[in-house]
Amino acid sequence: MGGGIWVVGEVDAAGALTKLSGEAATAARALGEAGSREVTGVVVVAEPDGAAASLAAFLSTVLAVRAPEMADRAASAVVAARIVALAAAAQERPAYFVLGATPDGRDLAGMLSVLLEIGVLVNATGLTWDAAADGVPAGPRVEMQPFGGRVLTSSGFTGECGIILLRPNMVTAEPLAEPGSVEERTPGEVLDLPPVRVIERVVTESPGPSIEEARVIVAGGRGVGGPDGFAGLRELAGLLGGAVGASRAAVDAGWIDYATQIGQTGKTVKPAVYLAFGVSGAIQHKVGMQTAETIIAVDRDPDAPIGEFADLFVVADLAAVVPALAAALRARAG
Ligand SMILES: Cc1cc2nc3c(=O)[nH]c(=O)nc-3n(C[C@H](O)[C@H](O)[C@H](O)COP(=O)(O)OP(=O)(O)OC[C@H]3O[C@@H](n4cnc5c(N)ncnc54)[C@H](O)[C@@H]3O)c2cc1C
Repeated sequence: MGGGIWVVGEVDAAGALTKLSGEAATAARALGEAGSREVTGVVVVAEPDGAAASLAAFLSTVLAVRAPEMADRAASAVVAARIVALAAAAQERPAYFVLGATPDGRDLAGMLSVLLEIGVLVNATGLTWDAAADGVPAGPRVEMQPFGGRVLTSSGFTGECGIILLRPNMVTAEPLAEPGSVEERTPGEVLDLPPVRVIERVVTESPGPSIEEARVIVAGGRGVGGPDGFAGLRELAGLLGGAVGASRAAVDAGWIDYATQIGQTGKTVKPAVYLAFGVSGAIQHKVGMQTAETIIAVDRDPDAPIGEFADLFVVADLAAVVPALAAALRARAG
């Protein structure tokens, strides 16, 4: 068996394992099965117990590393130093790392790449384990969608090691039938990397689920007409227990926060239901939401591109549909 695959779990502001970490673990497990590699989870945070147990729902072995200084340090240097020490002490150095393509994940990948002298493949939209071909040894093949999804690429590492950053919502997280075990580890010699101290943490409060985790997303585009148009969508999202999303046109117009932008330069989402109002369905938007299970679009233009990939395409004025839908949902809620 060759070098193993390590999945680095990430936590949210409350210290809980992120949904993306479960997705990364699930994707890594499939790689491990196909390539006969051991897959191990690693959680490095101030209080790792809860998140490590959550990651063990997906992986048979998880290493929990306590790093008290993470309370006021940016994650990447602290995690990178611990992982390099753990990898050096491991019986066999891991060959591949799977991380979430988040700001912290990208930071960490950069550091690990330099410290371990291995390559990085970013923004993976798909992962498979393939046999050797075209001068690339057997190993992970990483699918990416550069140029706003106009081009699909499949890449492999030329050495038999590397770091993969998986985009959110590309894989459905599937727990193991029986949870794995957590082993607490204290790495010996930890590198002294230049730390970045966090001066202030501000957790933004928002009602309802986050856009990455919501089962229902109510998205608005330029057709919503202005910031007031989003009030109706917020009400709909509230009635459906969902989150509000937006196209870049709506965000660029200043009608709604960038945090809600979906697409190539925004977030990738995979809700059960994606309701789009006045969003034309440009390729740069589509790449961020096309894996939604059901797409329902309302647009007054029968030729809007979103009609080509929506499961249900309603040609209507959203100014009539949004209040009618909200009234019907309110009536149903009694
Ligand atoms: C490098 C790059 C990156 C990009 N990244 C992103 C990204 O991350 N996310 C993103 O979304 N875009 C992104 N874009 C922009 C993208 O190309 C589109 O311009 C954008 O998605 C269009 O937003 P929209 O659908 O809201 O607006 P439009 O394309 O203008 O569509 C508005 C739709 O609303 C409909 N409409 C208008 N009034 C009504 C009404 N009363 N009732 C019903 N329907 C109505 C119209 O018929 C139209 O179909 C990017 C572009 C580039 C070049």
